[in-house]
Amino acid sequence: MKALSVALISALAAALLFACSHRNDSPAAGTAAAVTATRIIDADNDPGQWLSHGRTYDEQRFSPLRQINTNNVEELGLAWSFDLQTRRGIEATSIVVDGVMYTTSAWSIVHALDARTGQPMWTFDPQVAKEKAKHTCCDVVNRGVAVWKGQVFFGALDGRLFALDAQTGAVNWEVATVDPTLPYTITGAPRVVKDKVLIGNGGAEFGVRGFISAYNVQDGSMAWRFYTVPGNPDLGFENAAMEMAARTWNGRWWEIGGGGGTVWDSMAYDPELDLLYFGVGNGTPWNREIRSPGGGDNLFLSSIVAVRPDTGEYVWHYQTTPGESWDYTATQHIILADIELDGEPRKVLMQAPKNGFFYVIDRTNGELLSAENYIELNWATHVDIATGRPVEVPEARYTNDSFLVFPSYLGGHNWHSMSYSPDTGLVYIPVLDFPANYGQPENFRYNPGAGNTGVHGIIGSLPDAQAERDAMRAIVKGRLLAWDPVQQKEAWRVEHKGPWNGGALSTAGNLLFQGTADGNLVAYSADKGETLWSFPTQTGVVAAPITYEIDGEQYVSINVGWGGAFALVFGEFVQSDSLPNVSRVLTFKLGAGQQLPPVDWKPRVVFNPPALEASAEVIHEGYATYQDVCMGCHGLNAVSGLIIPDLRGSAYLWDADSWNDVVLDGALKDRGMASFADNISPEQSAAIRAYVIQQAHRGKALLDQSAR
Ligand code: CA
Repeated sequence: MKALSVALISALAAALLFACSHRNDSPAAGTAAAVTATRIIDADNDPGQWLSHGRTYDEQRFSPLRQINTNNVEELGLAWSFDLQTRRGIEATSIVVDGVMYTTSAWSIVHALDARTGQPMWTFDPQVAKEKAKHTCCDVVNRGVAVWKGQVFFGALDGRLFALDAQTGAVNWEVATVDPTLPYTITGAPRVVKDKVLIGNGGAEFGVRGFISAYNVQDGSMAWRFYTVPGNPDLGFENAAMEMAARTWNGRWWEIGGGGGTVWDSMAYDPELDLLYFGVGNGTPWNREIRSPGGGDNLFLSSIVAVRPDTGEYVWHYQTTPGESWDYTATQHIILADIELDGEPRKVLMQAPKNGFFYVIDRTNGELLSAENYIELNWATHVDIATGRPVEVPEARYTNDSFLVFPSYLGGHNWHSMSYSPDTGLVYIPVLDFPANYGQPENFRYNPGAGNTGVHGIIGSLPDAQAERDAMRAIVKGRLLAWDPVQQKEAWRVEHKGPWNGGALSTAGNLLFQGTADGNLVAYSADKGETLWSFPTQTGVVAAPITYEIDGEQYVSINVGWGGAFALVFGEFVQSDSLPNVSRVLTFKLGAGQQLPPVDWKPRVVFNPPALEASAEVIHEGYATYQDVCMGCHGLNAVSGLIIPDLRGSAYLWDADSWNDVVLDGALKDRGMASFADNISPEQSAAIRAYVIQQAHRGKALLDQSAR
């Protein structure tokens, strides 16, 4: 009895203390989405919630929940599913607060659901113009919302930032965060720090100048903006950091797209140091010889930057790939952790960016502590710890002789979330493992609003002979890698059927969850990587799972739906065994046994091409233009990933006028196919058609051959 009273009194005291210390940090009583800084910072004391993109500001994607664990995970079953009603890539991490789930689908559509049942509460569609798909390198995806003091924030594909009333889904405010005439897009999830919504953007494949902005949560007024690359020096610099950065550039980059360096995904925040960290992307164009003739590190491309969240003031940076020339972004997941190195507790920041090295950085000052390659790579031999710079292999700076570079422009690891378990001390990395060919283009012409990589042969590197293509296919791999950041070495791996598998979640139940490209959600033991449970998702999974608890029951939830860059571009590799896109939220708990309705939709290409009449010269011109302008959505070598129509089966091939109605006049713009009249000539349109007809005959012949 006495013990009970003591417990009661201390609970009351704690509640009082909580109430007092949070007087200025709480939403109105009864407000939905009652997320505050204190709640996020104290998230381990309320582990039933998933309050922020990576659950906590350190973005570890580890949950202290342990009701579901290695002993009972085989009893995990489907509790509910929610149809996301789109058929493009699904990349969002849901937020769950006080029993409500806030999530997004393709085309930046937001849903609020009852997290216990999946019943919809409201939906908000920002009505993004479908032709905006033209400015997406990597599908019309969205990676989620941020929730704060009764509001839900998200970035729409066209660059608008919205604040919605969490109760109703009504718009409280919206702002244009980008110049809408430029090829900026937003696919990343915002974060909220100190009553400011932080949002970046993408578009460096097309030609933009990157930045991250902070908006006041109350009214959407801009608090600050930090550019990641300098503008035209003759116009002056926004701050001292830009003046410093400009000394690392040559040429007239602001006239050929603006330098790039977009902040399209990762952020993390250390409340104690009061530092906001974000990752910066590749250059525009990718090719440094064009972007900055004569060299230069080109700050802050491919860098991790730390700024003050109140002002956006620069504090430090670490550049992973100086003078990047391969689309080696450092926008990949940033994880903060306190770990012991050489017997000393260190505040570290960890990242496995595209370039193939795993970095452990002192997050107080940006000093490199260690870096080792987490995949086989050939563009550098190692990272010199003394200088903090990679030691490059000279051939990797491609010339007219192209070079097959490991890893490719999709990276050894892309945006797919990692997870760090403080229990196992391991970082779990969804790894991609394949090369790409890079060479100097014969001539580069900046093409506003179109793809501007400035690299020749990168996509056309696939040989024409099928046997050689099959050999290429054999080296395209993907795996789940458990990495020890202290020893900087692999602990274990699970080899997957191919690349582009989903993000990771680890839990205190010694579990590690990951969805796969071949359509499963799998639970492994986090310490050893033993497969303990799996569930067929009917579609490829690229997003990351979350976990939460309501009324003493733990749930695991994941957004499924095949799509994204690899799914679109690498049709050649995925079409033969591709699963259709079925976009859903799937939520599991122990003892549940719901069934998914069967999927009877299996896309395939029906070849019926007209006769091939064009000259070899025209077909070659069509091939080159297709790779520059069409490939990003319709797929490598005109083989679609089947998320988007495969042009080789298109009826428009039969009539040159109808073809031009679509390609030049935008007849299908409301379905996502914008006009390319500003980017290609009528002759080039005709040449692309000829090339696709040729590839349709090739596809048909292969099919006939395999049927014999
Ligand atoms: Ca890129």
